[in-house]
Amino acid sequence: MRNFLRNVTATLICLSGIHILIREFLCRNRVAILTYHDTKPTVFAKHIAYLSRHYTIISLDTLVAAIHQKDFSQIPAKSVVITIDDGHAGNIELLPIFKQYRIRPTLFVCTQIINTHRHFWFKIEGQSKAEKEKLKRLPNAERLARLKQTADFEPEKVYPDRQALNIEEMKEIIADVDFQPHTQFHPILPYCTEAECRQEIFGSKADLEKLLEIECPHFSYPNGDYTEREIEIVEAGGFRSARTTVIGWNTLKTAPYQLKTIPIADDAGLSLFRAQLTTIPQRLNKWVNSLFNVNLL
Ligand SMILES: [Zn+2]
Repeated sequence: MRNFLRNVTATLICLSGIHILIREFLCRNRVAILTYHDTKPTVFAKHIAYLSRHYTIISLDTLVAAIHQKDFSQIPAKSVVITIDDGHAGNIELLPIFKQYRIRPTLFVCTQIINTHRHFWFKIEGQSKAEKEKLKRLPNAERLARLKQTADFEPEKVYPDRQALNIEEMKEIIADVDFQPHTQFHPILPYCTEAECRQEIFGSKADLEKLLEIECPHFSYPNGDYTEREIEIVEAGGFRSARTTVIGWNTLKTAPYQLKTIPIADDAGLSLFRAQLTTIPQRLNKWVNSLFNVNLL
């Protein structure tokens, strides 16, 4: 049902031509930051081929520098930035596409999960999406207690299988990828204590800078959740930007610690991808979700 509705909405948007109007007029001086998670190379290759025909793919650094300088003169019209969250092991398979199109996406990684056999808490099997959404709204200690109780999950527990990129893979792709921190264990920051929040933000920056011997000026909030407190901590920690999951485009006036994004479904066919670039399906979904608590699209 959900797939059917997604496809119908995407087809209607593409038939209406609104995706072309938005691209040609609205995106002239706005930059989209696309967010992926664990997309497959067959899907991603089609998206990037489409983007390379109709848009210019720029780095996050370029966008953030322009926002800080309040000068978009060096930003091509219809620019997009590619970001991929969490550090999923499958991201290594995208390397040939990064190379083919000479793009440098930003990979926001959880620094205490990469290069280990620890698991992402939100990938625990046997828990419904609704249960996971509930967990996201619990104080951090309570969320961890509930995960231990229901799934025997612990953030530092080592599992037989690996979910995240390891150091060999990261070194293989580092020339084509901009690695940046996404906390250590992916808690929901506003539900953490201030000490936990500082540890997750500062700790992840220090972890990644040490592991890869790089500078890490960009951050993305897990699940896109942040408050004034997180903005202050990120800014105090020496970051130059932070990406949220607020849907929209970025302009000269966008606050650098509240960068907007366009979330892309990891399995989106080309027609849904073109529709999602308009942000209409995501906004519709959010609206329906707020009214009926269901994910329609
Ligand atoms: Zn994430």
